Amino acid sequence: MSRPAAEASATSPAAEFDVDLFVIGGGSGGVRAARVASGHGAKVMLAEEYRLGGTCVIRGCVPKKLFVYASRFSDTFDEAAEFGWRLSVPHFDWPSLVAAKDREITRLEGLYGAGQESSGVEVVRSRAVLEDAHSVRLLKDGRRVRARTILIATGARPELPPFDGIELGITSDDIFDLKTFPRKLVIGGAGYIAMEFAGLFAALGSDVTVVCRGSNVLRGFDEDVRQAVAASYTNRGIKLILCDSIRRLERRDGHVGGGDRPRRIDVITEQGGRLVADQVLLAFGRAPNTTSLGLDRAGVKTGADGAIVVDASSRTNIPSIFAVGDVSNRFNLTPVAIREGHAFADSVFGEKAWQVDYSNVPTAVFSSPEIGTVGLTELEARAQYPAVDVYKVRFRPLKAAVTGDCEASLLKVIVDCETDRILGIHIFAEEASEMIQVLAIAVGSRATMKDFVSVMAVHPTISEEIVAMQTPTVRYDRRDASIPIVPSAAP
Ligand code: FAD
Ligand code: NDP
Repeated sequence: MSRPAAEASATSPAAEFDVDLFVIGGGSGGVRAARVASGHGAKVMLAEEYRLGGTCVIRGCVPKKLFVYASRFSDTFDEAAEFGWRLSVPHFDWPSLVAAKDREITRLEGLYGAGQESSGVEVVRSRAVLEDAHSVRLLKDGRRVRARTILIATGARPELPPFDGIELGITSDDIFDLKTFPRKLVIGGAGYIAMEFAGLFAALGSDVTVVCRGSNVLRGFDEDVRQAVAASYTNRGIKLILCDSIRRLERRDGHVGGGDRPRRIDVITEQGGRLVADQVLLAFGRAPNTTSLGLDRAGVKTGADGAIVVDASSRTNIPSIFAVGDVSNRFNLTPVAIREGHAFADSVFGEKAWQVDYSNVPTAVFSSPEIGTVGLTELEARAQYPAVDVYKVRFRPLKAAVTGDCEASLLKVIVDCETDRILGIHIFAEEASEMIQVLAIAVGSRATMKDFVSVMAVHPTISEEIVAMQTPTVRYDRRDASIPIVPSAAP
């Protein structure tokens, strides 16, 4: 609901504008920007073409984490017996999980709508496209809205490389609502989405194969973490096909599924491999959502990756148009989109301008166990600093002693020798996402290794290992030729 003109007097739009701010896209970045700008007295309209909440709420972080929770019960059931529980054979019901997920995202979507309304933002359920530097066309009713400022927060969509039979595959957008549980799942790609869905579907009972074009999964993560997760997945029965990629998909004649029946798809790889799947998840990254958005009409520039080019204040080359979140392809994570939206709204409509600090953005991969990471990887640190200490510990958590689980957890801390400052932390362990959130505060506050080891441990925990690391596992020192540079344990 729009706020009455009298209430918006502080920044009431000039006569030539209908609103102070028009936000295109009601996802993480857009709703935060709209709410905050409205709080500063701006008259705000927001258009959403699908469902309020965007990728994170509707087909990203939230439903994914609910599926991860569901998947972890299988380990818990197995382990429970070792702790004295006697359970009847558990049975997993896919439609019940999908229904529970639907209830939660519908609830959240309602909260997002209510939040916008109570903040005075007018939400329009329509696709919106740019007409020029100050106007937007609503495709639902053809209305033209003139805005002093426009924020593009249209997110991203799955990127699909062109190969034959691609229409037989599904993306993360589709996987949350499959009618039938995928018994044989092949996943193309080995990034965040591939590894999270591989882990959770395997734990729910799918036979999972990941086809990765690189020599290991999760390019860009610390090498030891990549090795640990690959070993763990292999140990859990997930097949990793490395240095290969999908060449084409073919429908298997005579086995074509209809309605709820599973499909049968042949997956042919570049190396000549042939796999059979009833679903193929294509997780090849995401592309900024800029198609047919009218960027040309408004003169907004995009980069080689298709993302909208912005400055540190999220302003495009057109002074009245800004962009936040995945569409600007900086760090494609929900908290980053939210903070960019907040900074934009405070800076343009509030009294104090500020910019997002992208140093030390923590992130997690919700594999089981999880990956938590913040700051530089070992290789990045060694390239950027003359001398680096690497503290590394692999251990079996206490619970594993009883369950017999041989999987090792990994904690790794990278330190600048000259200042003792912690440059990066990488964890592969249960609850790593929770640990890294808190550890990121220390890294962002420029904590030193001395600070860490002076902290008393909480016992018995996994995270106590991080304050118990007394001596570096290895030092890389380019300043002193007499100290041998010991190669990392991981290639
Ligand atoms: P979005 O949230 O995508 O919102 C864009 C909105 O704009 C959408 O609702 C779309 O419908 C709408 N829109 C697009 N074009 C128009 C138009 N022309 N007119 C009107 N509306 C339009 N990040 C994390 O931090 N943690 C996680 O665990 C995590 N898990 C993820 C899991 C998956 C499967 C995926 C796909 C992503 C995940 N992410 C995660 C990334 C996170 O979801 C995104 O970084 C975040 O949602 C980006 O927010 P945004 O506001 O830029 O875009
Ligand atoms: P990622 O960029 O993480 O991974 C893409 C994967 O696809 C990589 O393994 C990449 O290989 C591979 N790939 C890309 N193109 C091709 C190709 N043509 N042929 C074969 N392989 C290819 O993207 P995702 O789709 O997994 O996720 C998108 C983004 O969403 C993430 O980057 C992240 O920002 C966000 N996200 C965050 C999550 C979280 O915070 N937990 C969870 C899920 C998503 P290579 O490495 O060799 O390029």
